[in-house]
Amino acid sequence: MKNEQICIIGSGNWGSAIATVVGRNAHRLSFCNNQVRMWVFEEDVQINNNSHQTAKLSNVINEQHENIKYLPGVKLPENVKAIPSLEEAVRDATVLIFVLPHQFLPKLLPTIRAHVNPTRCHGISLIKGLDFDADTKLPVLISKSIENVMGNQFRCGVLMGANVADEVARQRTCESTLACDFGSDSVNERIRQIFDEEHFRVSRITDVAGAEACGALKNIIALGAGFVDGLNLGGNTKAALLRIGLLEMTKFCTMFFEGVEKGTFMESCGVADLITTCYGGRNRKCANEFAKRRGVEPAYLDSESCTKLWSAIESDMLNGQKLQGTLASQEVYHLLRARNLLDEFPLMTAIYEISFEGKPVNTIVDGIRTHIEST
Ligand code: NAD
Ligand code: 13P
Ligand code: CA
Repeated sequence: MKNEQICIIGSGNWGSAIATVVGRNAHRLSFCNNQVRMWVFEEDVQINNNSHQTAKLSNVINEQHENIKYLPGVKLPENVKAIPSLEEAVRDATVLIFVLPHQFLPKLLPTIRAHVNPTRCHGISLIKGLDFDADTKLPVLISKSIENVMGNQFRCGVLMGANVADEVARQRTCESTLACDFGSDSVNERIRQIFDEEHFRVSRITDVAGAEACGALKNIIALGAGFVDGLNLGGNTKAALLRIGLLEMTKFCTMFFEGVEKGTFMESCGVADLITTCYGGRNRKCANEFAKRRGVEPAYLDSESCTKLWSAIESDMLNGQKLQGTLASQEVYHLLRARNLLDEFPLMTAIYEISFEGKPVNTIVDGIRTHIEST
């Protein structure tokens, strides 16, 4: 059988971290070509702290084997090749790993489609976000949006889990969930082996919708965790927020997606990802900062000022990395409001109103109390 040619589409924080795992595996596994291609959104990066000397990020990665902007301090395997041309990166690929902030994906998909053979290629999305149908306004899985553009022979699964990128890159032991069904046990197992490593334990389930929706929704709850931390409300409040957050995630998943299985919430992609993101993620970190910059009991802030504050925090704290929870919070809130469902999701509603309608940050506790009273 022909060897798998792997292409990673994206080279941000998680894209670079998963490249360390996949690069080592491709080298080790006999059914993979040694070279792993990584498409890089090309940019000039500063190469010396004391000067303004810059270089192309793809050159830096290929020469120093380090993504000095998005994953500094971690060496990438030498068989990972950074490629700034998307056509060149995806050509003849048999495994496409999608890992970039999803707002950038639609522009890339037509080029990808034009240069791969959809009948000989499998997709795995590591993207944590949601799309929305232009007509019905209902949520659509990003893996489905990818399949829709790539054509009806193309299948896309997901890899979701409690996987803060910097920790994975430093080989701290963790688990991850592969959700896919490519219609053949041997293909499913090959794909699992491409990700599975001693320190990165991958189990497979078939519930793509449950796994993927959890990955998107926990980013919203993580904003709430940041608010609780920013106000120093302590461990009990945060535990209540996590519990209620999980309940709302479960309710949302079963309400809007078919075939979601209860067991999925107990996998790494469910409760474990919620926990790690609410403790060590960027959404938590930036929401913690939002709470600090807002002060404890300030007057209401208008929506435009809220949006500006998030942008300032993102650029001050993330050095080009992107927050996902703020967009998801807005999208989910508008969906729930249009369907008269806000009362059923008081925590997600409170998180949105603090984030974008200027409500004081300490109203996060109302989102928790309301839920407790209503269940
Ligand atoms: P990131 O937050 O580091 O995003 C920055 C990336 O976006 C960079 O690679 C940058 O080059 C690219 N970019 C900027 N402008 C662009 C444009 N116009 N077109 C294309 N690309 C552009 O990215 P990430 O951390 O790799 O996250 C990707 C996905 O993985 C997200 O959905 C995220 O939720 C998910 N995820 C992240 C982590 C994590 O710990 N970082 C863990 C699990 C899942
Ligand atoms: P953040 O985007 O909040 O860092 O979450 C990372 C993540 O998805 C961990 O699994
Ligand atoms: Ca090999």
